Amino acid sequence: MPVVIRLSVIRLSVIRLSVIRPSVIRLSFVLSVVLLLGLVGAAAAQDAPAQDPDTLDPTPPGSLNPEPLPPLEHPEAPSTAARDLFARKATPFPGPARAIGGYSDGCLAGAAVLPIDGPSWQVMRLSRNRNWGHPDLVAFLKRFADNARKIGWNGLLVGDMSQPRGGPAISGHASHQIGLDADIWFDPMPKHTQTREEREFNFPADVVAKDQLDVDAKVWTRTRTELIRTAAQDPAVTRIFVNAAIKKAMCREAGSDRSWLAKVRPWYGHAEHFHVRIGCPADSPQCKPQSPPPVGDGCGHGLDDWFKDSILHPVQPLFPPLFPPPPKPGVTMAALPAACRQVVNAP
Ligand SMILES: [Zn+2]
Repeated sequence: MPVVIRLSVIRLSVIRLSVIRPSVIRLSFVLSVVLLLGLVGAAAAQDAPAQDPDTLDPTPPGSLNPEPLPPLEHPEAPSTAARDLFARKATPFPGPARAIGGYSDGCLAGAAVLPIDGPSWQVMRLSRNRNWGHPDLVAFLKRFADNARKIGWNGLLVGDMSQPRGGPAISGHASHQIGLDADIWFDPMPKHTQTREEREFNFPADVVAKDQLDVDAKVWTRTRTELIRTAAQDPAVTRIFVNAAIKKAMCREAGSDRSWLAKVRPWYGHAEHFHVRIGCPADSPQCKPQSPPPVGDGCGHGLDDWFKDSILHPVQPLFPPLFPPPPKPGVTMAALPAACRQVVNAP
């Protein structure tokens, strides 16, 4: 699209050159360039879903001896980032379970823990202490792990769920804030119970091909499509985020029953894990539901857009900025539901 615009504007300029005086030509040229830049910029902005690197959910190595975070000097200051408060809470807020607010702006009371080992799952990156969730999420994961066994998947490797009290995290995610999101690795659980070292330092396999246009045939297996189908067919699940190349493979492999594909949404990253989201639980009136995904299998033109050059290879600036922008300050408690203050302030 941007290329077409560029050509037509140049052609326009050439026509003008032949009929108009030089001073006007210069002005016309400048205006054309401005118009061109504007149009190209607008087209690119329209193409690209807003990319937020935080939503890539990277899986950096953990640590065998995680250092506790140093106490904050002014935790009560209104300018304190909410993530710095939530990251310092190692235990859940007691009482009944409540998901409060939205997936990317909320918190969690009465969280349940997913045990680090189960008959058909193991939790990874224990140093992050993010294997907490609403009890509905924990129940879903146990159910999903059992159902995965039935399709020949040895068990789940579970990455980040939520912090003990949910809320924004100091690394890795924009969502995962209300105990209803979980990351699952694309690798099956090994047959042995993993050591701490394995859980902190093993890396998940990247299942997307180098050119990002499809899955990596050497790594991908059809069982992975069946695994995601199994999660998507669970009534609690509302969305599953995967790399667009993975969605493409699933569109190809799904067969005739395609209704579940609507829940599988293409997104940046998510090449070595998928992200499962469940809906608002009945016990959480303050939970902000997300509108249901668009009707249809999502395999048509909307998916093609993800493979445009402007998305796969966004234009990089020619020179690095002289003064890199400071890191984003992070939202304060004012941006979260009022009930989250009580959740994060309790000892
Ligand atoms: Zn995630």
